[in-house]
Amino acid sequence: MSVITRFAPSPTGRLHVGNIRTALHNWMLAAKSGGQFVLRIDDTDDERSREEYVEAIREDLAWLDMSPVGEERQSARLAHYDAAFETLRASGRVYPAFETAQELELKRKIQLGRGLPPIYDRAALALSDEERAAKQAQGIAPHWRFKLDHSAPITWDDGVRGPQKFDPSLLSDPVIRRADGSWLYMLPSAVDDIAMGITDVLRGEDHVSNTAVQIQMFQALGASHPRFAHEALLVGKEGKLSKRLGSLGCDSFRERGIEPQALIALLARLGTSQPVEPIAGREALVASFDLSTFGRAPARFDDAELDRVNTAIVHQMSYAQIADRLPAGMDEAAWLAIRPNVEIMGDVADWWSIVTGPVDTPQLEDEDRAFLAEAASVLEWSENPWKDLTTALKASTGRKGKALYLPLRRALTGRDHGPDMGALLPLIGEVEARARLQHCATA
Ligand code: GLU
Repeated sequence: MSVITRFAPSPTGRLHVGNIRTALHNWMLAAKSGGQFVLRIDDTDDERSREEYVEAIREDLAWLDMSPVGEERQSARLAHYDAAFETLRASGRVYPAFETAQELELKRKIQLGRGLPPIYDRAALALSDEERAAKQAQGIAPHWRFKLDHSAPITWDDGVRGPQKFDPSLLSDPVIRRADGSWLYMLPSAVDDIAMGITDVLRGEDHVSNTAVQIQMFQALGASHPRFAHEALLVGKEGKLSKRLGSLGCDSFRERGIEPQALIALLARLGTSQPVEPIAGREALVASFDLSTFGRAPARFDDAELDRVNTAIVHQMSYAQIADRLPAGMDEAAWLAIRPNVEIMGDVADWWSIVTGPVDTPQLEDEDRAFLAEAASVLEWSENPWKDLTTALKASTGRKGKALYLPLRRALTGRDHGPDMGALLPLIGEVEARARLQHCATA
């Protein structure tokens, strides 16, 4: 059976780095076995779901080069949830409940006060037909709970966490449908996983107890359940769940000059026993993707690590890969000369400007002016003009090291640091180079 995974965001906001990581791992799990990755938009919450977020999710996945094979929307599948609901009702697995939010809160407080776990007491199950009818007659519409089967533990072999065992009597019967008929997440998700043939559900460990409940839903609907894997959550580098991570999304990475490949390379390995490496090729990442390397400890996201991976990935980019993003006129030699100094692609234009000029006129001592006048006069164009120039100047002036190189670099580029002069000088060209040296000699 071919693997089918899904990424199921609720379009109530932009994707953040934690969601992106989950999407990526689902994408990779499918890619690893030549399977399929499906996007499911969990938009049953009419009030909070927004079309602009659906668009943004699609755009983010496209930017990350993780396009799904198909897109499903829960809002278009309500009839399926109704049908499943009727099946479960007919088999006695859903029941109406009438408590208000305040009543439930009070029950919780009392249980907690007695040192008991705050589990729903199933009071609604004890209502007689007359009592239920009376509630309805008073205009109180019921919400609906899924009745957990308490007869046996719920077990599964989790792809990350290993063997799992839950005692269902320690879980509340979950509310699956509100009094206004709208759906909560639990049942629609299980119905969709069945209908879409999802073989593997990989999601955050905040869903572990939902999985226990959903396994019983799959069973109650006569289906076998997919494999489950729950990854540890992503936290900030200080080890805490940070607010900032929750608002860190593709837009901010793009603005910061992060290449999608860098984000992917980092998130692919973060929280696993495999080292984070600047691997730009997706195939290599997919080939090494392995759930058994995922750790139980939270994965720590560190901006500085992302920056390092990003720079290393930029340094691997060939001219062919990047040509259409370079300033007009920049050829392969120019890219290769400047590349080692580029941390983010946004730096390229700045470094290129030291080739095209004009460059800033540096502060110089009189001695250096005379030296630069000498440089302008001995400059000769050859295979390796920088080497020839510095060799000639060393011999004629006796200068070496910094005293030799720094005034030349300053005069030729306007800066103290930058790309290798041997590669840069041929790009600047003979006429312009001489002009810059002469200009400084007389400045
Ligand atoms: N929409 C749910 C969420 O974002 C999906 C969880 C799941 O993967 O089942 O939490």
